[in-house]
Amino acid sequence: MTVNVAELVSRQASLDPHGTALVEAYGTERALTWAALDDQVSRVAAWLSGQGLVAGQRVALVLTNRLELPVTYFAALRLGLVVVPVNPRAPQDEVTALCATTGVRLVVCDPDWAATFAGAGLPTVVAGDDDPQAPVRPFSHLLQVSPGPRGLPPAPADPETTALLMPTSGTSTDQRIVILSHRALLANIEQVAAVEPAPVSADDVVVVMLPLFHVFALNAVLGQAVRQGACTVLVDRFDRDETLRVIARHGVTVVPLAPPVVAAWCGRPGVQTALAGVRVLLSGAAPIDADLVEEFGVSSGHPLEQGYGLTEAGPVVTTTLGRSGDKPASVGAPLAGIELRLVDKDGTEAEPGDPGEIWLRGPNLLSGFWPDASGGPDDDGWFATGDVGILDADGDLTLVDRLRDLVIVSGFNVYPREVEEVLADGPGVAEVAVVGVEDRETGEAVRAYVVASRPGADPDTLAAALREHARGRLARFKVPREIVVVDSLPHTTTGEISKSRLRAAQARRGVLGLQ
Ligand code: AMP
Repeated sequence: MTVNVAELVSRQASLDPHGTALVEAYGTERALTWAALDDQVSRVAAWLSGQGLVAGQRVALVLTNRLELPVTYFAALRLGLVVVPVNPRAPQDEVTALCATTGVRLVVCDPDWAATFAGAGLPTVVAGDDDPQAPVRPFSHLLQVSPGPRGLPPAPADPETTALLMPTSGTSTDQRIVILSHRALLANIEQVAAVEPAPVSADDVVVVMLPLFHVFALNAVLGQAVRQGACTVLVDRFDRDETLRVIARHGVTVVPLAPPVVAAWCGRPGVQTALAGVRVLLSGAAPIDADLVEEFGVSSGHPLEQGYGLTEAGPVVTTTLGRSGDKPASVGAPLAGIELRLVDKDGTEAEPGDPGEIWLRGPNLLSGFWPDASGGPDDDGWFATGDVGILDADGDLTLVDRLRDLVIVSGFNVYPREVEEVLADGPGVAEVAVVGVEDRETGEAVRAYVVASRPGADPDTLAAALREHARGRLARFKVPREIVVVDSLPHTTTGEISKSRLRAAQARRGVLGLQ
C-alpha cells in the first residue's frame, strides 16, 4: 500500500527511468526524466534533512509553475514535512501572513521573493539560475547534496501524516486553512484514476497552466500524472495564443482548464487546429456558464468535460467523464468511493429534485482546519461543504450556489447565481455579482454589482434597463433592489468572482472602485 505521496515518484523511476516526467514549456525548456526527478527529490530531501528539518515542520513554496516546485514538493513530503503552497502573485502581506500563521521554517521561492523572506529572517532558497546574495541559497546548491551511505531518514509510516496546508480560495476574512493528509491526497488520486474513461494514462501528455499552488493542479493534475507515469508540461503563465502553441508543439493530450481559459479560447481562430491531438479537456474549480460549455464544444471540436471539487476533498468530487454528454449545466456524478448526499437546512435529506447542501463522506476528505484540526468530518465521517446542489434522477449533480452566498428576502431564498445568470443575459453587461445586504424591512435585500461591457456607459440608464430586464424574468423578491455599476470585480485565482472580497469591500466602500 502506498503511504506517502512521494512514493509515486520512486515507483515511476523504477518502472520507466528514461521516460520524460516533466518539461518546462518556456525559457530553455528544461526537462527531467523519472530517474532524474527521483534523484533530485532525494538530493533535496537530503539537504532539507541536513538543515535539521523533521517531520511535521512546515516548508512554504512560493513558486510559479517551474521544475523546482514538484521537486521540492515531493522531497518535503518524502521526509514527512508539511508543504504550504503559496500564490507567488498574491500581495506581499497575504503571503507573509500565511507563512507566519502556519509557522513556516523554510521558504523556496521565485527570485523576486528572495529579498522579502531573507529580510524577514526566514531561511530562503531561491529557484532560478542566478547565484543569489547570501543569506539566500540557490536551488542548485541543494542538488549538490546526496543522501550519503546511511540514506534518508525513514519516511513516516502513518498515512494520516499531514502533507499539505492549503488556504481555500476565499483570500480574505473567511479564509480557512485546510489540513490534508497523505491518506486524503492518495485516496483522491486513486478515485480519479478509477474513472472510466481514464482522465490520464501513461501515454498522455498533460499540460499544467493552472497554478500549482492550488490543489486542483497540484493533486488532481500533477499527482494524477505522476501516479500514471504521464508526462507533465509546465506553463508558467497562461497566454491565450502561446499556450495553444505549447499544446500543439508538445503533443499535449490532456488539458485541465478553469473557466477564464475556456472563455479566452472560445471562438478563437486556430483553437481547433491547436487542440487537434487533444483527448480530454476538463474544466473545474469554478462555475462555468452552460452556454459557454456548449459554445466551446462547437468551436473547439471537443466536448468540454466538467468537474466539481473543493480543497477540503483533495479536491475532486464529481466528474462528467463517462456520463451522458447532454447536460451542459451538470458537473457530473460523484467519483466511486465518495458518498454524496443533499441535506436540508433542518439537517434532513432534501426531497428528490430539491436543492440541498452537499455533504460528503470518503477517505479523500480533510483532517480538519489549521491549527487545531477542528471543523473536519463529523463522528460519522460526513463533511458539510457549504455548496448547494440538485441531483437528477440519473445521479448527476448541478450546483446551485454556495450556502453562505444565499440571500434571504422576507424569508424567501434567493440564490445569487440565478439572478446573476439573468442579469448576465441583459443588455450591456460584461460581468455581474449578486450579494445580500441588510435591509430593515425585508431582513436582507438583493444588490447587484455590474461591470458594463461598454466603457463610459451611463450607470443610471444601464441600471434601469437591467431592472426592467430582470422584472420580466424573475420573481419580484429576486429582482435586485440596487444595481451598482462598478469598474471591475475581484476574482480568486481560479477565476471565480470573490464574494468574500466583495463583501469585505462593501464594508469599506471606495475600495475596488465600488461607489
Ligand atoms: P476552493 O477549495 O477554494 O478551490 O473552492 C472550492 C469551491 O469552488 C467549491 O466549494 C465550489 O463552491 C466552487 N466550485 C468548484 N468546482 C466548481 C464547478 N465545477 N462549478 C461551480 N463551482 C465550483
